[in-house]
Amino acid sequence: MKLADIEAAAGLRSPIRHQLFIDGQFVDAANGETLATLNPHDNSTIAEVALAGREDVDRAVAAATRAFPKWARLAAADRGRILLKLADLIEANAEELARLESLDTGHPLKDSRALDVPRTAACFRYFGGMADKFQGETIPVEAGFLNYTLREPVGVVGQVVPWNFPLMFTSWKMAPALAAGNTVVMKPAEITPLTSLKIAELMAEAGMPAGVVNVVPGLGAVAGQHIAEHAGIAKVAFTGSTATGRRIVAASAGNLKKVQLELGGKGANIVFDDANLTAAINGSAWAIFHNQGQACIAGSRLMLHERIADEFLEKFAALAKSIRLGHPLDAATEMGPLTSALHRDRVLGYVGVAREQGGEIIAGGKAPAAAELARGCYVEPTIVRAKSFKDRVAQEEVFGPFVTVLTFKDDAEALAIANGTDYGLGSGLWTSNVQRAHRMARELHAGMVWINSYKRVNPGSPFGGVGQSGYGREMGFDAMREYTQVKSVWVNVDAQIPPWYSR
Ligand code: NAD
Repeated sequence: MKLADIEAAAGLRSPIRHQLFIDGQFVDAANGETLATLNPHDNSTIAEVALAGREDVDRAVAAATRAFPKWARLAAADRGRILLKLADLIEANAEELARLESLDTGHPLKDSRALDVPRTAACFRYFGGMADKFQGETIPVEAGFLNYTLREPVGVVGQVVPWNFPLMFTSWKMAPALAAGNTVVMKPAEITPLTSLKIAELMAEAGMPAGVVNVVPGLGAVAGQHIAEHAGIAKVAFTGSTATGRRIVAASAGNLKKVQLELGGKGANIVFDDANLTAAINGSAWAIFHNQGQACIAGSRLMLHERIADEFLEKFAALAKSIRLGHPLDAATEMGPLTSALHRDRVLGYVGVAREQGGEIIAGGKAPAAAELARGCYVEPTIVRAKSFKDRVAQEEVFGPFVTVLTFKDDAEALAIANGTDYGLGSGLWTSNVQRAHRMARELHAGMVWINSYKRVNPGSPFGGVGQSGYGREMGFDAMREYTQVKSVWVNVDAQIPPWYSR
């Protein structure tokens, strides 16, 4: 199909951007290479997208380097104004962005409309407002001296974004970096570049000066690796797998760049026997099945108190089986396809892994039978009861609509199981006992804890993990700290300093 026909079929009103965005222009890759981005509903080609190589990353870094001094010195409120304008433009183009995200990733349109797009606008708006509110400190040092700190941007920032929430993560990465005065070279995942390129277009419309933002879709091992090792890049921020995170740390050592990592997770979602079960069942289904389970904070280990496990599981499985799978652009769809065939196969491979270790498949475990979904990357909502919390499906990140169920007998066992992985990103718990709730929140090895809810995010609330889930925080004031460095300035106002040498 021709691109124009694909755009019309998806209800898009403006042309799909399929070139790199460097120095304020949409351009082809230097070597002319492209890569097809696919529609996960049927694996058809949406568009051939320019594929950035090392030379293109170099061009982008050069543009960002040229743009940096002026952008960094612009009044913070003026930087903020551009981000606020962008947030308005995102809202004005909300339907376009929602459809494009659903087309490229498989997110149900219902979710793209209600979550991805509003959260993207909210993030740019939050950091647009933050730009002139983030400030240094004055420190009470010895008499006669004024000591104050400046929060300075770090320079050119490389950002490597994954394919599970490409639009939203573009905002999470770019907004604080730009508000703080950095310039950006951003690489979306090679399989989902379209909404990041659309954001680049809207940036230009919002008045972003050329070179401040550059978007270079390319392969991880080529463009991503080059960003991580680039001597002209002062910091790299990454979201993705723990294995790739390690590679990025190694590659960044050359110029000792700052590194920020948001990696995988194996979220424990703990339901105590005093919980409101109706809320917990619904919330636990959302925790794992939203976005087809492709979320680092997914509640992928469902831990049930043994007294309520059978009743909970029966209702939870009934809910899972009722989730409507379908075309992402159908507004009634509750679960779309996974984002790639490779990933669908990886997820389905874990069904075999579960069986080998004696796991019981309670629901799903296969691709849906419906003929209209046969060519896509669909997987049924899958519930697996594991024998031990040490089983692979209770330890490894599956990153799909695949939840591993474990049971526990008391708080101590719940905590031991919950903390019994190398990850430490998000955890949730459901209970009506306020002391237990806060005690567990304190003891859980995690960067985020949700009590009687799951997977809440907000631009003001720090987001990130501990252990193998990475380091550094996105969102809030913490994100501004991550994207700045502190300079301490000493001023002798009227200090009487006795001479050190008596001559
Ligand atoms: P990945 O980590 O390899 O890819 C994420 C991003 O990193 C992409 O933009 C990719 O191009 C880039 N990348 C890959 N190799 C790179 C390198 N050497 N240097 C720099 N950048 C590089 O993820 P994947 O292989 O597509 O998915 C595998 C698993 O990763 C999933 O099953 C899931 O467990 C995890 N994952 C986690 C998240 C998250 O939000 N934390 C997101 C995506 C994937």
